[in-house]
Amino acid sequence: MAPSLSPIRSHHVAVIGAGAAGLVAARELRREGHSVVVFERQKQVGGTWIYTDHVEPDPLSVDPTRPVVHSSVYGSLRTNLPRECMGYRDFPFAIRSGVSESRDPRRFPSHGEVLAYLQDFSKEFGIEEMIRFETAVVRVSPAAKSDGDEGIGKWRIESTEKEKKTHRDEIYDAVVVCNGHYIEPRLAEIPGISSWPGKEMHSHNYRLPEPFKDQVVVLIGNSASAVDISRDIAGFAKEVHVAYRSNPADTFIKQPGYSNLWMHSMIERVHEDGSVVFQNGETILVDVIMHCTGYKYHFPFLETNGNVTVDDNRVGPLYKDVFPPALAPWLSFMGIPWKVVPFPLFELQGKWIAGVLSGRIMLPSKEDMMGEIKSFYATLEAQGIPKRYTHQMGNAQFEYNDWLASQCGCSGTEEWRKEMYLTTGVRRRAHPETYRDEWEDYHLVSQAYQDFSLYTH
Ligand code: FAD
Repeated sequence: MAPSLSPIRSHHVAVIGAGAAGLVAARELRREGHSVVVFERQKQVGGTWIYTDHVEPDPLSVDPTRPVVHSSVYGSLRTNLPRECMGYRDFPFAIRSGVSESRDPRRFPSHGEVLAYLQDFSKEFGIEEMIRFETAVVRVSPAAKSDGDEGIGKWRIESTEKEKKTHRDEIYDAVVVCNGHYIEPRLAEIPGISSWPGKEMHSHNYRLPEPFKDQVVVLIGNSASAVDISRDIAGFAKEVHVAYRSNPADTFIKQPGYSNLWMHSMIERVHEDGSVVFQNGETILVDVIMHCTGYKYHFPFLETNGNVTVDDNRVGPLYKDVFPPALAPWLSFMGIPWKVVPFPLFELQGKWIAGVLSGRIMLPSKEDMMGEIKSFYATLEAQGIPKRYTHQMGNAQFEYNDWLASQCGCSGTEEWRKEMYLTTGVRRRAHPETYRDEWEDYHLVSQAYQDFSLYTH
């Protein structure tokens, strides 16, 4: 639908989270003329990129009463996307002149460089003045409408401030949920696990390889984290075995270049004597099983009277992964799509939400939004795609971004960014050990820096 010419309205908007999504949401909302408060339970901006040695006391992170450690970043982590591709569109993640020597200029830099970039972004756009740090949102619920509300949803936000132990109860016109999706682990189901005597953990609680010295470790999964962590640990552990459910049942491959790293099919069963049996028939005695099996969407503070649910990791119904039709535009979600280039996608989602809230951009009717969601679900079902993959985008992200861009009246994804994403994916799968340090897409880097010259100084 084309942008409308109706008068622009300003609203009082709460943003939950000051990670990469919340920061750019706040910028776009303020640019559009809204008044914004960002709630952030940590002491600084950056979300998952704030590395900490601390891990949760429950190594599987299943205890709902556990103290939550937000970050899932491990010590050796370098980005799995090149910095040119990864950054926001109008604040490139480029190597800037005059930056301190402590910065990491590599194309695939360490986690600390990403955090420094997000801090730069926050400083450049004065985002911190909108943020209430160490303030956790504990409840978001619909507020009763009053006479002057003119159809505005109104949300009641209850929050607690850590140091002062203050409890606040406030009303906002709209809420943008940017709470991150890498803290509530998914676990593999393993027959016999309740009587298996070894240690189980989730990659959320992995930081350093040294504690695995001389141990036999099984990792479950095939994500970027599983690939990185298995190599990290192989430098210290006695043996590392990676089990993955999509591997053919007879998979048993020694990883070239390593004396102690094997790929397997999935675990068939574990036993009381500490052994792990794989579908390929191999049996080994194991000290640690690490689940690198991803995360679940989790909104523990959100009450929507059933208008938004999480069912087998499908958050829905959401129009374009952002607006629940029954509550649009007063409730929105950012950062739901996965297997994407997150920051530029967040930027476009933020622009869209800001423009829709001000009335500059129109949404279809609730019925039409629901109709589109239903037909999308039907397409997934017809293709045999399980619910839990509803928000996986992959290459479809570019069409999605272009659609958002057209709504916002800005240009779609740059060709070099698309190509860089695709070529990096191919190299990552073919050369997981070296793709961060060897590449051939120099022409794309040069195109990127030509574009960046509009924004860097
Ligand atoms: P987060 O960064 O998680 O931020 C959410 C914020 O919300 C946090 O600050 C949190 O404290 C706050 N919050 C949550 N609940 C509340 C509450 N109730 N009240 C107040 N505040 C709250 N992306 C890339 O682009 N490149 C990569 O190489 C890459 N590697 C990754 C590696 C790992 C191990 C992980 C886990 C992710 C990686 N990502 C990568 C994806 C990464 O998650 C995104 O880049 C991005 O940082 C997500 O931002 P976010 O704002 O959605 O969430």
